[in-house]
Amino acid sequence: MESDALSSAGAVPAEGSLREPSILIRGGQMVVGQAVIRQDLLIRGETVAALGDLSHMEADQEIDADGLLVLPGGIDTHVHFNDTFMGTVSVHDYFVGTRAAAFGGTTSVIDFSNQVPGGSLAKTLQDKLEESAGKALIDFGVHPAITRPDEETLAEIPEVVAAGAPTMKCYMTYREDGLLIEDEDLKRIVRPLTEAGGMLMLHAEDNDAIEANVPSLIQEGKTAAIYHARSKPPEVETEAIRRIIQMARETGGRFFIVHLASPGGLELLTDAMEEGLDIRPETCAHYLYFSDSVLEREDGIKWICSPPLRDEAAMEALWQGVVDGRIRMVTSDDAAYSWEAKLFGKDRFDRCPNGLPGIEARFPLLYSEGVAKGRISLPRFVEIVSSEPARLFGMAPKKGRLDPGSDADVVILDPETTWVMGQDTLHMGTDWSAYEGIEITGKILKVFSRGELLIDGEECLGTPGRGRYLHRRLNG
Ligand SMILES: [Zn+2]
Repeated sequence: MESDALSSAGAVPAEGSLREPSILIRGGQMVVGQAVIRQDLLIRGETVAALGDLSHMEADQEIDADGLLVLPGGIDTHVHFNDTFMGTVSVHDYFVGTRAAAFGGTTSVIDFSNQVPGGSLAKTLQDKLEESAGKALIDFGVHPAITRPDEETLAEIPEVVAAGAPTMKCYMTYREDGLLIEDEDLKRIVRPLTEAGGMLMLHAEDNDAIEANVPSLIQEGKTAAIYHARSKPPEVETEAIRRIIQMARETGGRFFIVHLASPGGLELLTDAMEEGLDIRPETCAHYLYFSDSVLEREDGIKWICSPPLRDEAAMEALWQGVVDGRIRMVTSDDAAYSWEAKLFGKDRFDRCPNGLPGIEARFPLLYSEGVAKGRISLPRFVEIVSSEPARLFGMAPKKGRLDPGSDADVVILDPETTWVMGQDTLHMGTDWSAYEGIEITGKILKVFSRGELLIDGEECLGTPGRGRYLHRRLNG
């Protein structure tokens, strides 16, 4: 309702909100529907109060945004904080992780919480509420990851959906890490989950193929980082996606494919979406920026992730999916392991913790590679980094848009300034960087979270623990 948003510009503030602090951001470029227009934005308290020509208004604080972009805060629905995996734990906890997110223009995250041996599904939520207490700087939601598909767990699904965590994840691989769920169990999970108003997110890789490929490569002495990618060629992904599409057909369930990296998988999903199945994908920023050539480098283990990085043609195909809207959201899959841990894979690709830190890089990298390089429009950028994740993951209309009544999660970005991404300019918790020397166009100047200035240039403000749990509910 963009026209309503504009016509409410001169509206009288609601009764009772008069004493809340106000911030007026003047003359920024903002996305309204599919257009980019110059207008003012008034924040009052935690929310957006008005938009449009507010030249007649005054506020406690005014910011001149002439020549700058004023955008909804980024929403990253795929992060792994405090994640225990492959013999290590990710170094992004709720303080370091959400601080890096904020520096990178992201004001909401959804974190995965694995059901631990003996643990209930409800405990996955409890764990994250405890981990975030006194630490989270931005708002956060939780995706429980089901690792034990027994009757007790299935019985808990409605209650956990009702507790604001309607999106749950299962892995089709990582048997050794206790994560793999068999297809028959996935079907048993997706039925009650969909019925309760949830959505099943799947890590789509064919475990049988991987378990056959890895030992034979190792036996041949092919242990370097590039062979991680060779052990999981695109067919490994497309085979799993083919099976999921069949499950969607059989069950009528609601599915989401995390970190899509293969053009073949995108083709299958394109047909499935046309068929009317309830299934859609995300891709991640690293699949759009890095090709598998980096795995050939001496420090190639930095880029070991799953699915692996693909070739240039795959990158182009994924970009095309983003451009034409078949892929409507791009996440980070932030999985930040220390260099010491990544080194487990120095001589054995199969021992390297899979994952890249990316929570801070995602937004600026996608702006620079997408908008500044002319691949996508600014409205499409806002869609993939904020609006669609908010909509699909049950955070709209509070998040993902700047309309009256929305949370005032705002990024002010200078579209002209260039800078070099790397360990010195990023704030992530890893002691190494996958992003060294990348030239970026577009610099984040300020970030607000629910009306509070969180990032001001190089400074991070805000009290750890201020971030709130996002009680989510999916639409339709
Ligand atoms: Zn992930």
